[in-house]
Amino acid sequence: MRNYFLGARNTWTLGLLISLAVLCIFWISTGNSVIGGVSKSNDDGAGASHNVMHMLNEVQRINDTMFVCSESFEDTRAYIQNRPKDDYNDLPIIYFVTPTYPRREQIPELIRLGQTLMHVPQIHWIVADDYDGCNNFLDVNRFGIPYTHIASPMPDAYRSISPSPRGVANRRAALNWLRQNNKKTGILYFGDDDNTFDLRLFNEIRDTKKVSMFPVGLIGLYAVSSPVVKNGKVIGFFDSWPAKRKWPVDMAGFAVNLEYLSQHPNATMPYRAGYEEDAFLRSISLRMNEIETKANNCTEILVWHTQTQKSKAPMVRIDSQYLESEKSNLGALFRELESMGVSHQSDSAGIKAQISKDGKSKPFTFFFR
Ligand code: UDP
Ligand code: MN
Repeated sequence: MRNYFLGARNTWTLGLLISLAVLCIFWISTGNSVIGGVSKSNDDGAGASHNVMHMLNEVQRINDTMFVCSESFEDTRAYIQNRPKDDYNDLPIIYFVTPTYPRREQIPELIRLGQTLMHVPQIHWIVADDYDGCNNFLDVNRFGIPYTHIASPMPDAYRSISPSPRGVANRRAALNWLRQNNKKTGILYFGDDDNTFDLRLFNEIRDTKKVSMFPVGLIGLYAVSSPVVKNGKVIGFFDSWPAKRKWPVDMAGFAVNLEYLSQHPNATMPYRAGYEEDAFLRSISLRMNEIETKANNCTEILVWHTQTQKSKAPMVRIDSQYLESEKSNLGALFRELESMGVSHQSDSAGIKAQISKDGKSKPFTFFFR
């Protein structure tokens, strides 16, 4: 019998079949890429440790790597800094963009930052998570301020290069959100999740006309990055890493008016580690004599580039039988920490866990049987 697929008259059919198969594979892999990635994460180890709750009905697809997980434009605060919320209604909104990513310090960082922002009137917090799913334990809603929780993972191609462009995919996603929601009034500010923000910073940046700049403490070898100001004008930059940058400033050292931003449709942040600020400010055609200086002519530090020490999640050795819910609080506590990736539990490996009483360590058998 003649091999059907090798027959010359069927070459055309074979080509068609292969093309169809390729198209099919392509459709499956792209059309469902993010959704597929998320549900897969639920099954694998990494996903399980972050307890992904992917609520499809709450998720809007915007493009391949950006989802709005949840969002609220409602401000549930009655009072802000001892005044009724409505006293602030005439102030322009500050869109505070926070790139963040899953690691064990993520939740404490966001709690601290969220509770700073609770004191700031007319704020919309864009929390853009470098993760291909909606980590529901981020629970941005709890702060009562208007917010948008975005899932915007760094493309794999950039994750593997060193240094990787940290927080770029997320900030780009936030820029897209501002564009897609036609936000042309208000102020844009990039505030990383580990920085420290003085509440006075928000009063300063709120009346930014084009681009304002101010010092950032704890940057580089000079311990500060700041414009150099003479007679109220910026004449240069004090930053220990010039690196041929036209704008050698930190991400937290400037704010942009959204009307000005919207006049620059090519505004973007490239995936280029170390040059994100420079390229972004170049993309909005900023000129030196346009810079508005803040923080009392750049003599005060209202934002600090604090960094949180990172360490690995420990493995705690504790027999599962002692983590049954009816025995004590420890089971619930360990499950919570596990879901956030803060620590792991094992029956047979890791640091042996003990309970102490009256200053003495006792085995679990002493308390539970
Ligand atoms: N970030 C991110 N993905 C990463 C690493 C960092 O989204 O893989 C975020 C991080 O949460 C922070 C910002 O990008 O808001 C800058 O990162 P980091 O604080 O680690 O860098 P630093 O500027 O302090 O050196
Ligand atoms: Mn940082």
